Amino acid sequence: MRKHPRDTIIFQNIKEAEMKVVSGICNTREKIAESMSVDVSGINMRIIEAIENPLVIDTYQEAGKYFEISKDPDLAELPVPMYYRKDGGPYITAGVIIAKDPDTGVRNASIHRMLVLGKDRLTARIVPRHLYTYHQRAEANDEPLEIAIAIGMNPATLLATTTSVSITTDELEVANNFHNGEMKLIKCETVDLEAPECEILLEGKILPHERAQEGPFVDLTDTYDVIRQEPVIKLDKMHYRANTLYHAIMPAGNEHKLLQGLPQEPRIYKAVQNTVPTVKNVLLTEGGCCWLHAAVSIQKQTQGDGKNVIMAALAAHPSLKHCVVVDEDVDIFDVEDIEYAMATRVKGDEDILIVPRARGSSLDPCATPEGTTTKVGVDATKPIDKKEKFARVSQTL
Ligand code: MN
Repeated sequence: MRKHPRDTIIFQNIKEAEMKVVSGICNTREKIAESMSVDVSGINMRIIEAIENPLVIDTYQEAGKYFEISKDPDLAELPVPMYYRKDGGPYITAGVIIAKDPDTGVRNASIHRMLVLGKDRLTARIVPRHLYTYHQRAEANDEPLEIAIAIGMNPATLLATTTSVSITTDELEVANNFHNGEMKLIKCETVDLEAPECEILLEGKILPHERAQEGPFVDLTDTYDVIRQEPVIKLDKMHYRANTLYHAIMPAGNEHKLLQGLPQEPRIYKAVQNTVPTVKNVLLTEGGCCWLHAAVSIQKQTQGDGKNVIMAALAAHPSLKHCVVVDEDVDIFDVEDIEYAMATRVKGDEDILIVPRARGSSLDPCATPEGTTTKVGVDATKPIDKKEKFARVSQTL
């Protein structure tokens, strides 16, 4: 996977398991764009449209009919890799957990890394967002939280589960917008839940009042995350398709970076648009782990727009550490073009904004123990009154 960072890879003849492994179905922006029928520069607008217009799904099929194999759970049958030497064990990295809010019944779908503890037991990193809240609500009543875990699905569906929508929005209905309202769900057998069409489906529950050690595991920044005590999952059923492909996402690879980071771009875009309506596009660059570095292109209208964009972008995505703003004649998808703008349009004493001791990303190895870091914004836009001096001759030929 390391050797072929942009290819889709299928591993066959795995010694310890009969299933094949696939990796890299979402490891380029081109593949993600294709899955939602847009070009790369249109991904952000397509995500905004889907989030604002979730579509109800009312077509169902039975798990027993969709999957050729349904049986008691045995995770030893899945080729779950251990990726790096010091990992806490084999980790499921493309598992989407589906659950319903015990109070409201709203469905949630979110991707979580899951450490295999035994043939029917896992622990999952559950950050304090929607699934965490559902589990807290169930736990307050001493109840388990029913879940389904879907592994191996359409890239656009998978991407929808990584969007930061409100707790009252169902990510599967966002996915259904990507699929033009044609999604079918699978009805689970042992839990009152529905899952998207997938290669492997696990059914079970998150137990109340039980925790296990989660980690060590590698995060976006290619560094080890801290070890935590996390909730325990007990499985009751396992389904998979004949000739199934087990989807494995390599930690800190492009697929991980894009799935986690790319859905933050539309949020930054909307925040910047409030300040500078002529924003063209926003990118969290792969080199910045799709998390710490943003490039924003704008059609500059007044002197100072660049600085305002920096402040809006840093506020919109609190993990953002460095932000560069360029004019619309610079292609933010081309890192050389961004460097060109920094080389020719930046004066260090005027165009760099430094914000010390701001709240940053817990993933940033530079962050202080209390979670602060220094934010830097680079205004690489042309001065509004000297546009001719900065015009790129090769673009005017
Ligand atoms: Mn949610």
